[in-house]
Amino acid sequence: MSYLPYAYFDGDYVAFSDAKVSVATHALQYGTGVFGGIRGYLSHDEKTINIFRLPDHCERVIQSAGLVKIQLPFDTEGLAEIFVELTKRNAPKGNVYYRPFAYKAGFDLTPKLTNVDDGFTLYMMALEDYYGADEGLSAMVSAWRRVNDNMIPARGKVSGAYINSSLAKDDALAYGFDEAIMLNELGKVGEGSAANLMMVRKGVLVTPPITADILEGITRRTMFQIATDLGIEIEQRSIDRTELYIADELFFCGTGAQVTPIGSVDRRPVGDGKAGKITRAIAERFHAIVRGKVTEYEQWLTKVPVV
Ligand code: PMP
Repeated sequence: MSYLPYAYFDGDYVAFSDAKVSVATHALQYGTGVFGGIRGYLSHDEKTINIFRLPDHCERVIQSAGLVKIQLPFDTEGLAEIFVELTKRNAPKGNVYYRPFAYKAGFDLTPKLTNVDDGFTLYMMALEDYYGADEGLSAMVSAWRRVNDNMIPARGKVSGAYINSSLAKDDALAYGFDEAIMLNELGKVGEGSAANLMMVRKGVLVTPPITADILEGITRRTMFQIATDLGIEIEQRSIDRTELYIADELFFCGTGAQVTPIGSVDRRPVGDGKAGKITRAIAERFHAIVRGKVTEYEQWLTKVPVV
């Protein structure tokens, strides 16, 4: 990973190497932090970084923080301003990924949330593709179930909950797959370790509802908008495991994943094992939008001058 030189750390812009916490930090011990993941795309003329859906991501960071009683000293707009300022200071020369992290910074021994000091940091790294190959990932249905809302809320990006993702992803890699698909406690399809899942059956784009113990993904919402534009019907409903075996198309979507086709599930090919027609059409429009080539969606881009 290549980290950019400056970070924001508890109210100051500092060298990334100085953004450090103690080993006694509550969030490090108990996973009491929440994070975000946002992409910034370098424009064609290399004059701006276009941050994708920044206000939506800021809103989710603040909502996730609220779930674990982390109070931030700024609102959505104030948080967005920190992104803009840090981008100007780092003046990236390529595509970037932002990692905001709000956390319980106190050294309290008790695993509680109230009256434990809060901290906030934001740092940036260079990021191109997350999955490497764009052609059909091999996925497995994981034996690890997705955390449920009454355990650790999956709808927010709670750090501790990523042990769940790590266990599933690690198993998938150990068994020779690229990615895991986690079922929820009801045995219905949830999501990947770090991406939402979309299925195409008979021309309809189907995805689990936000009550299925999944992250309320911003790319997931983006997919709905793009599908609507392309005249594709959308259905939010629970998905059975065996529907994955007979789906016409499957793909992951997320800030990191962007739009990544799934070529097989449990070694059963999805369609012909390559990206399907609808997946390709959605991916194409998505990449055009994030790069600022579709004027109707310019409002999704926060353009920050970097020269
Ligand atoms: N699910 C999980 C578990 C994730 O970590 C992510 C990545 N943030 C997503 C879904 C996709 O969410 P988004 O589109 O908001 O990045």
